[in-house]
Amino acid sequence: MTLLKTRNLTKDFGGLTAVEEVDIDVQQEELISVIGPNGAGKSTLINLITGMLAPTDGDIVYDGTSITGLDPHEITQLGVGRSFQTASIFPELSVRDNVDIASFASRHGEFSVNFFRRQERYDGVSQRTMDALEAVDLVEEVDTVANSLPYGDKRRLEVAIGLATDPDLIFMDEPTAGMSPAETNMTTDLIEDMRTDWGITVVLVEHDMDIVFEVSDRIFVMNRGSLIASGSPDDIRGNPDVQAAYLGG
Ligand code: ADP
Ligand code: MG
Repeated sequence: MTLLKTRNLTKDFGGLTAVEEVDIDVQQEELISVIGPNGAGKSTLINLITGMLAPTDGDIVYDGTSITGLDPHEITQLGVGRSFQTASIFPELSVRDNVDIASFASRHGEFSVNFFRRQERYDGVSQRTMDALEAVDLVEEVDTVANSLPYGDKRRLEVAIGLATDPDLIFMDEPTAGMSPAETNMTTDLIEDMRTDWGITVVLVEHDMDIVFEVSDRIFVMNRGSLIASGSPDDIRGNPDVQAAYLGG
């Protein structure tokens, strides 16, 4: 079943077309990697689908419904998650509170200032928080203030925040950037577990080609805003257009 599709998806920033007429189809429980040189439009594509940016043109259909132009929290509530950037971690809150806020946001809409007063709901989301923290092996850091975590743990916290929104589809934008080899291995395992154990459809942006070729069912290749190739790891490995894009063509 097709879970996500885009048609003619386009984003102009002034004179620059960051995403140009992109058509993609993602099947349920697929693990997709999006690759391409810096500036290819990978992050912009994710920002469009998750509602962080409004498209200039085109349509985005999730689970049979157009989500084009919806707000990020509406898209989150439909089951589309993302592993947030470090900038969106609340640095002075504990690991637990950061993940609880994500759980709460997915169930009850936008984060509200009343969050900490709603004690019953707070208790209600804690199990999901603990499941998410267990998945990224951060249970022991549950009471640690987010800002004092080492860099790799912060990245894992982002993944837990993404999982806590209870997504059917999750976007991960370079989750292993800056991680040690051990943390990278753990994250790679987690990405595979998300699909196999949690049944989550995954769209991953990743620079490390070893990871991409190891975990992906299919790979989408972008260059200068356009989708230039898509296919299985074997298809992509031998594709001359892909070689040319990476060699600066
Ligand atoms: P990637 O993630 O593949 O490295 P991006 O999607 O971040 O690429 O960027 C694609 C292009 O769009 C780049 O040329 C980048 O400079 C530009 N771009 C991204 N975001 C903005 C923005 N908010 N305003 C203007 N230009 C942007
Ligand atoms: Mg990017």
